[in-house]
Amino acid sequence: MNALHEVGTRRPATVEEAVRTLAESGAQALAGGTDLLPNLRRGLGTPRVLVDLTAVPALDAIAVQADGSLRIGAAATLAALAADAAVRTGWPVLAKAAGLVAGPTHREAATIGGNLCQDTRCVFYNQSEWWRAGNGYCLKYLGDKCHVVVKSDRCYATYHGDLAPALMVLDASVEIAGPAGARTLPVAGLFVEDGARRLTLAPGEWVTGVVAPPAGGWMADYAKARVRESVDFALAGAAVALRRDGDRIGALRVAITGTNSAPLVVPADSVVGRSWDAETAQVLTKLVHTTSHVLATTVASVGYRRRMAQALVRRLVDDLWTRA
Ligand SMILES: Cc1cc2nc3c(=O)[nH]c(=O)nc-3n(C[C@H](O)[C@H](O)[C@H](O)COP(=O)(O)OP(=O)(O)OC[C@H]3O[C@@H](n4cnc5c(N)ncnc54)[C@H](O)[C@@H]3O)c2cc1C
Ligand code: SF4
Repeated sequence: MNALHEVGTRRPATVEEAVRTLAESGAQALAGGTDLLPNLRRGLGTPRVLVDLTAVPALDAIAVQADGSLRIGAAATLAALAADAAVRTGWPVLAKAAGLVAGPTHREAATIGGNLCQDTRCVFYNQSEWWRAGNGYCLKYLGDKCHVVVKSDRCYATYHGDLAPALMVLDASVEIAGPAGARTLPVAGLFVEDGARRLTLAPGEWVTGVVAPPAGGWMADYAKARVRESVDFALAGAAVALRRDGDRIGALRVAITGTNSAPLVVPADSVVGRSWDAETAQVLTKLVHTTSHVLATTVASVGYRRRMAQALVRRLVDDLWTRA
């Protein structure tokens, strides 16, 4: 089966036209195509029409707004984001996370909207049609059972996006357009921890942009563990934003990816006000451990990914604490 043979493409000229087209039955958003097209080639999905959002004029704009916040249009490429002078100076964690996605050729096409909304992944899902058919498919698509958590009533495929945790620790928002009008959500509100449902977008809704507030004394960083440094998805990834107040942690935000079916905020309030020492590091590591729910959805072992999530957070805080 090759769904691409049966798919039409539409290139909307306005946000409203994109909303109308996406509300049609069988329509799906297309941006850089670096996640969606490989999946369609494997028979994962049968959209009737792909709505090329990169055709909407000026959707790729990256601009510092009058209030000092940063607005990134959904079709801005990750290469543009990584290279943008204002982003590198004011929100370097975003430039870094964008520069760590896939390889250089992917980043020329891949967009921030597509990065946020990318599909979840699993060793039983990202396979050819004949492989999946031979294994009776699975709950995420066409089947009725999960091979990772047998007797599960939901899919545990993993979210591996790099930009979401970086945006989450910046307290950024996503702008959404849809048939009921425009709305804004904290980035964490875009996701649902279910590998098949993935996003909280209603039919016809799509992400038009993201807005990050001014850095305001926060220092932030992102790191990921992957098989090959040049191209791979995060086996575990972490973003940390820290405000140091003398010898105390003044404020701390932590988010993880590559561990669960959604990028998640680690509740770190209990370490705020403490000094960054071995005891505090142990408390934070425990919080990461409790938040992450790693399952056998990739080729790397569960134990390795779980330990890497904890180690990455610890290393990032170590480094930010020293630099602050
Ligand atoms: C070899 C390889 C390595 C990769 N490595 C990484 C990696 O290290 N880190 C990482 O994060 N990703 C990785 N990816 C996945 C992908 O390349 C990136 O996530 C990329 O940013 C996706 O953006 P895109 O514009 O190409 O999205 P597309 O493929 O066009 O779309 C992805 C999904 O988002 C939806 N979508 C797109 N734009 C919007 C929008 N504005 N609103 C609502 N829905 C939308 C589409 O319908 C689709 O479901 C990799 C992919 C490959 C093939
Ligand atoms: S976690 Fe289960 S249902 Fe989800 S893709 Fe993997 S095997 Fe399928």
